[in-house]
Amino acid sequence: MIPVSQTEFRQAMAHLPAGVNIITTQGSAGRCGITASAVCSVTDSPPTILVCVNRSSASHPIFERNGRLCVNVLSSEQEELAKHFAGMTQVPMEERFGWDIWEDAGADQPALRDAIVKLQGRICDFKEVGSHSVIFVQLDRIAVREDGGSLVYFNRHFHGVQRAG
Ligand SMILES: Cc1cc2nc3c(=O)[nH]c(=O)nc-3n(C[C@H](O)[C@H](O)[C@H](O)COP(=O)(O)OP(=O)(O)OC[C@H]3O[C@@H](n4cnc5c(N)ncnc54)[C@H](O)[C@@H]3O)c2cc1C
Repeated sequence: MIPVSQTEFRQAMAHLPAGVNIITTQGSAGRCGITASAVCSVTDSPPTILVCVNRSSASHPIFERNGRLCVNVLSSEQEELAKHFAGMTQVPMEERFGWDIWEDAGADQPALRDAIVKLQGRICDFKEVGSHSVIFVQLDRIAVREDGGSLVYFNRHFHGVQRAG
């Protein structure tokens, strides 16, 4: 059987519509945030999600050492933020955390005020698969906004999806 090529795989994954998130962390190893679409529910008992992070990212060891993170699920209004936290605009990390977009500074993990959903928790497991780490997170704080659309990445472009009703 001919193995699937990296190009074929990436082309296929580009057609998998995915919600867009900014994953943040702060703690003794520092503060950072990255845009990530590889976020998925694992189980509701105990409430656990997974996030896949490239091990070559400068943020990877910061997530690992802090041991806690927040998944900020972006709204359809937050495409520019997705680009900043994907490193597409060359805005330095600390400048991003200086913007008036965050919940109060006393929060345990950096949470975006206008995110659709905020999922905060403790890293409970790590699994290395190829270039990425699959990070399992047991949640201890959830906040959900009942209004606003969602931001989706599909075919290498951002799209706003509005809720029905
Ligand atoms: C729609 C979309 C979905 C994505 N999904 C995923 C995903 O699921 N998983 C994934 O791993 N990636 C994903 N990415 C890519 C990810 O967002 C970027 O790789 C990540 O933001 C790192 O950016 P970088 O390539 O600029 O990398 P880096 O090499 O990590 O950093 C770039 C620059 O920022 C500086 N920097 C980084 N961290 C800090 C810090 N803490 N303090 C100070 N300076 C710092 C570095 O010095 C460097 O100069 C996605 C991107 C997009 C657009």
